[in-house]
Amino acid sequence: RLVAAAPESAREEALERALRPKGLDEYVGQAKVREQLEIFIGAAKKRGEALDHVLLFGPPGLGKTTLSHIIAHELGVNLRVTSGPVLEKPKDLAALLTNLEPNDVLFIDEIHRLSPVVEEILYPALEDYQIDIMIGEGPAARSIKLDLQPFTLVGATTRAGMLTNPLRDRFGIVARLEFYTAEELARIVTRSAGLLGAPIEPDGALEIARRSRGTPRIANRLLRRVRDYAEVKGQGRITREIAQRALAMLDVDPIGLDLMDRRLLEAVIHKFDGGPVGLDNIAASIGEEPGTIEDVIEPYLIQQGYLQRTPRGRCATLAAYRHLGVAPPAQAGS
Ligand code: ADP
Repeated sequence: RLVAAAPESAREEALERALRPKGLDEYVGQAKVREQLEIFIGAAKKRGEALDHVLLFGPPGLGKTTLSHIIAHELGVNLRVTSGPVLEKPKDLAALLTNLEPNDVLFIDEIHRLSPVVEEILYPALEDYQIDIMIGEGPAARSIKLDLQPFTLVGATTRAGMLTNPLRDRFGIVARLEFYTAEELARIVTRSAGLLGAPIEPDGALEIARRSRGTPRIANRLLRRVRDYAEVKGQGRITREIAQRALAMLDVDPIGLDLMDRRLLEAVIHKFDGGPVGLDNIAASIGEEPGTIEDVIEPYLIQQGYLQRTPRGRCATLAAYRHLGVAPPAQAGS
């Protein structure tokens, strides 16, 4: 399965850490976000204040976690990392918040999955650097206010629309991460190959980049597999031909769609006459979670123009028919 969901293993996570750019100047692409952050971080540092809270949204693997590390690094402060599902109880979050030093960064991944009770104590923390916590139990229980150090929350989510309004309103900086161009991904692949000590030709890097669904995590993942292939089937050097052969073996097609992408498009075309078809029907027919389809698989297919999201459901476009070599019906993809 070659989608850009979470890292596949602890080993991959360790490798990702090694490949993560440290500073804003090493962060490839996302020019608008980078420019904004550079200004806001510079201003916050000059005033010695905490940076405004930052919300990062976009599909998995586009560099949200990386950016949170970079923000803390550029501010010269500590980073604490957690995620929505991990923070089960208000006291889990309270423990993190009360241990922050002035202007630290707290990163909450999958922030849309915070439980409502935890989210509740986050509001005053974000607004006034204060939290209300309950002390004691039963009739003796009382709530006390604790002052926190000024801090910056960096929240990450795959879809901004899944956040509650009161939470979303508390972020001063909201940045949407976009899919990367092939040229940007080729720069990332070339840099990663250098760090891994894998010899690569510019054409080889571009071939991997073109087939990475616009996503750095996938580019780095494919690079490692192509490197293995080059070592076993070639002379170790990643050329264009080696990359093509390796990626074909991995079922990544020339435009970078993987098995799941093609299965989804084929289902829409063959089982639902090209659509419109609802998300749940697609999910049932290809055996995938609706949430995964919406967050991970669909965004790239839509961005590339193979799939359309309409009020009545998903439709395959003419480009999808053409790519799969299927004759379109008279009015497909309209
Ligand atoms: P997310 O948190 O959005 O799922 P990550 O920040 O974990 O994504 O990024 C996944 C991998 O892609 C990391 O190994 C990171 O090094 C790499 N990466 C992401 N964005 C960039 C970028 N702009 N420049 C270079 N490498 C990147």
